[in-house]
Amino acid sequence: MSLPLSRRAFVGGSAGLAASCASAREVRAVSSAGRKPVMVGSENALPGMQAQFEHLLAGGAPLDAAIEVCKVAEADPKDTSVGLGGTPNEDGVVQLDAACMDGRIHKSGAVAAIEDILHPIEVARIVLERTDHCQIFGADAYRFARAHGFPHTELLTEESRAVWMKWKEGLSDQDDRLGPPPAPPKSAPPSKDTKTSFVPARFERHGTIHCSVLALDGNVACATSTSGLAFKIPGRVGDSAIVGAGLYCDGEAGSAGSTGRGEASILACASAMIVEQLRNGRAPKDAGMEILRRIVRETERQALWQPALIGPDGRPSFDIQFYIVALDGSFAGVTLKGKTHARFAVSEPDGGPRLEALEALLT
Ligand code: ASP
Repeated sequence: MSLPLSRRAFVGGSAGLAASCASAREVRAVSSAGRKPVMVGSENALPGMQAQFEHLLAGGAPLDAAIEVCKVAEADPKDTSVGLGGTPNEDGVVQLDAACMDGRIHKSGAVAAIEDILHPIEVARIVLERTDHCQIFGADAYRFARAHGFPHTELLTEESRAVWMKWKEGLSDQDDRLGPPPAPPKSAPPSKDTKTSFVPARFERHGTIHCSVLALDGNVACATSTSGLAFKIPGRVGDSAIVGAGLYCDGEAGSAGSTGRGEASILACASAMIVEQLRNGRAPKDAGMEILRRIVRETERQALWQPALIGPDGRPSFDIQFYIVALDGSFAGVTLKGKTHARFAVSEPDGGPRLEALEALLT
């Protein structure tokens, strides 16, 4: 689904006619204006990019591509950071955040803390296209989605429920939850501390999908979707639903989005700040590194109220990534530390869909 205007603008172009006459790759990989389409996003965007890149080469709309990429991860129960099978909040309920933005018309749509809807990114698109608003949150977002015909879908899989219960049982040795009995050790003597013996060493609490797209006609769009921070406080809204933080694009400058600690992205207005630097002529990598340096400085002050934000090495204890594309087709994937994610997905005519190494600020 796309805005009628977007379809008209696209189909009406002479390149659109050419695409129907010959192979998309031959005819459309670089436009007459010398532009090439580019998709950049989180590592889990690769399967969606592989499915979408041919459409983009054929002149597809960037918002369509960004949303379709997110939908692949939303429907995949094995991706526990997004949509179906996403890790739930502390009550065991999967609450999703999603947003999209169309740089050509400078309009966004978002839903946050939405439950029981398989494709929150499609609901975000309805907010973009069929309301005068930018965001709808919580139970009202669910009702809005149902009113637009989205089916009710249980998103908690047996696997994500089991992970949540394991987390709950390992929270404290002062409560009444005992957890499953430990498996008898093969050689070592039995542990005396039966409670802490099933506290999981570490849960991966982060994960999101982002996709930024530069289309052949020079338009940009982006989309982000997530189940958010695992075991979050119910109702917590992360950066993925906040335009300017977890994603932002501007048809005059470029597009950016993030994964990782959402609070850092929100407090830095990160994606908007990156796009603003693109507007001022900075290269994508330099723009991303500048915001990462700013986040490091901000974290030093934030440690006044949350000391755990600084690790024993004196550096931020969390990680965050940015995926950036400029209107000239240059792109970058940058990360604070490269510990949680080391790679990003990119698709452009010269190399096709692939993973590349994120460039880390702190190595
Ligand atoms: N940025 C997401 C959030 O804070 C989570 C993540 O990407 O890890 O909700």
